[in-house]
Amino acid sequence: MKEKILITGGAGFIGSHLCEYLVHQGYRVVAIDDLSTGRLENIQHLRPLPSFQFVRETITNSQVLDRLASEADIIIHLAAAVGVKLIVEDPVHTIRTNIIGTEEVLNTANRYGCKVLIASTSEVYGKGVRVPFTEEDDRLMGSTSHSRWAYAASKAVDEFLGLAYHRQFGLPVVIMRFFNTVGPRQTGQYGMVVPRFVRQALKGEPLQVYGDGQQSRCFADVSDVIWAVARLAEHPKAVGEVFNIGATQEVSILDLAQRIIGLAGSASQVQFVPYEQAYAPGFEDMRRRVPSLEKINRLIGYNPKCSLDDILNRVIAYEQQRI
Ligand code: UDP
Repeated sequence: MKEKILITGGAGFIGSHLCEYLVHQGYRVVAIDDLSTGRLENIQHLRPLPSFQFVRETITNSQVLDRLASEADIIIHLAAAVGVKLIVEDPVHTIRTNIIGTEEVLNTANRYGCKVLIASTSEVYGKGVRVPFTEEDDRLMGSTSHSRWAYAASKAVDEFLGLAYHRQFGLPVVIMRFFNTVGPRQTGQYGMVVPRFVRQALKGEPLQVYGDGQQSRCFADVSDVIWAVARLAEHPKAVGEVFNIGATQEVSILDLAQRIIGLAGSASQVQFVPYEQAYAPGFEDMRRRVPSLEKINRLIGYNPKCSLDDILNRVIAYEQQRI
């Protein structure tokens, strides 16, 4: 039988897709989630399966975490405060959850020698302007007076912690820097642009483009991303390493809005909203964000399969059923 995997944040957007995939791959999967941003409906269909177990609890409950880690071979740590909107609105929660939670997971995993995969983010590159971003690049962070950077800094601490546990105690740790991941089940509630635009388009409301819309992103489909996570979990040479995971098809946010309007057959218009109105005064956005996928491609042959239109069509189909 395959190994047992504990997924923190297992009822979240990426977590629930990962649970589904790993169960189908023959793993026994335990998902822990406090449902603060995760949703029960994301994993409801998995609950009858004998190889799947859901535990509704926070990862800072050390007793529960200890029990679950003692029974697991691999921990995929996705539980975190996510979404730029949430981060700007609740910075204390963000810093506490991301740093204390990850420390708890690593410390507990170290007691049992579990392999740990830690979800980090492209935010750690900060305002870096030399694209594409490679894993060894220097990082350029904004001032501590802007809450947005608390997320990047807390995730960077998570990376430092993970790599420190690996170097100091020999714990098998892998760091995954997720770039903009999208797909069904992602909610727009915490600021993510694709589900927001899709819902606005389907409702015939204006698509709110922040700033001048010339900032760009590369969107990866969640199915490509979880494939990569599973391969990294299995590959012995991933240990002690940092990997970008994402896609490289770059699109400006204004083009994205227009593309979604077209694909959804919507009559919506684009509305430009100043950043300070959308987030907070002094908010700093990243103009471009493109991952180098060379390292992950070399190790596991990762090549994202879904095009941007495939991704958007899937999100449109999903949201159409929910509106
Ligand atoms: N954005 C936007 N309208 C929205 C939500 C986001 O124009 O309703 C912009 C946002 O300012 C950023 C881009 O879309 O430039 C991607 O935002 P998201 O929060 O999805 O991801 P991140 O900022 O982490 O890349």
